[in-house]
Amino acid sequence: MKQIIHIVGNRPQFIKLAVLYKAIEARKIARQQILHTGQHHSQEMSGIFFDDLALPAPHIQLQIENTDPDQFIAHTTRQLQHYLAAEQPGAVMIYGDTNTTYAAAMAAARTGQSLHHFEAGVRTGDLKAPEEINRLLADRLSSVHYCCTLHNLQTLKAEGYGTAITATPFFTGDLMLDAYLKIPEDASFKPETTSYVACTIHRAEHILVKKNLEAIIDALNDLHRQIPVIVPLHPHTQKKITEAGLTVSFRIIPPLGYPQMKAFIKQAAFIITDSGGVSREAYFAEKPSLVVMARPVWPEIIRSGAGLACAPHRDAILNTFIQLAQHTPNYKAALFGYGNAAQNICDHLSDSL
Ligand code: UDP
Repeated sequence: MKQIIHIVGNRPQFIKLAVLYKAIEARKIARQQILHTGQHHSQEMSGIFFDDLALPAPHIQLQIENTDPDQFIAHTTRQLQHYLAAEQPGAVMIYGDTNTTYAAAMAAARTGQSLHHFEAGVRTGDLKAPEEINRLLADRLSSVHYCCTLHNLQTLKAEGYGTAITATPFFTGDLMLDAYLKIPEDASFKPETTSYVACTIHRAEHILVKKNLEAIIDALNDLHRQIPVIVPLHPHTQKKITEAGLTVSFRIIPPLGYPQMKAFIKQAAFIITDSGGVSREAYFAEKPSLVVMARPVWPEIIRSGAGLACAPHRDAILNTFIQLAQHTPNYKAALFGYGNAAQNICDHLSDSL
């Protein structure tokens, strides 16, 4: 039986992995190994997802001591190369656009593995963002491309994938939708208030650029005077808020596990986020969303009329929120497929391995 090695390291990757891992196991398509790079390594950002989503402990856990992103990429790539060269799996699965995705793509390409990229074809056009660089390189080095949306598929085709660049991309739908439909929410999770804004902020260009962080925190503080704003705060964002000495008057709660997060989103009146995953989940839950991103990762959501987007400026956030409160959202288009992405990927893997 062939072997698939899933290389993951970040919160949203554990969630996507959980649905695909179980689908591959149920259909006995291949032996599987989970290789965790350690990019997110705390209980609240990593362990809780393996526990709540009943994933086996990672078969291989890398220990990366340095948190500098370039050193992380260099060390991880080297360790992954050694491992993949020794294992020679039938396929390496990578997810999304993080430094883990990029290091895994480099290592798989350099050791000649069949590299399968889930969430292929996402582009914002902003080459200053590390995620965009990671996406472009991961796609270019991959042999197989699984796309969440038809827009992503068209993007790849327009870049020459399937013709000049020979791999043929596939539209599979979104593993995040599979997860949303399959994993029950924690019904016992009840924020103390009923009408609130569920908010997440963690994107590097927002928390590492002080003026952006200040503008976002200012806007959320102001908004909280009108409607409760609750933020399960990413540890990186917490660190940057503390370093910048910013005052927060909205409500901060610790990062949540997936079933609690799903309950948190489903009970919210509005969503404000700069997360690719949470903006999709707002769409799945049919919640009006404000995506704080000058160039949204999922422009489909904005174009279809389901959500609004704005740049990370205080007035833009407050004014767009007013528009959102008056907006009639449209959730009708099945932008992210039908919740059978894992089965579509399994169909492809069972034909190709
Ligand atoms: N998430 C979670 N708990 C939280 C915040 C987010 O379980 O406190 C989930 C969220 O529901 C989504 C995923 O993590 O499924 C998104 O991850 P994140 O926002 O860290 O990354 P991005 O999607 O922007 O890459």
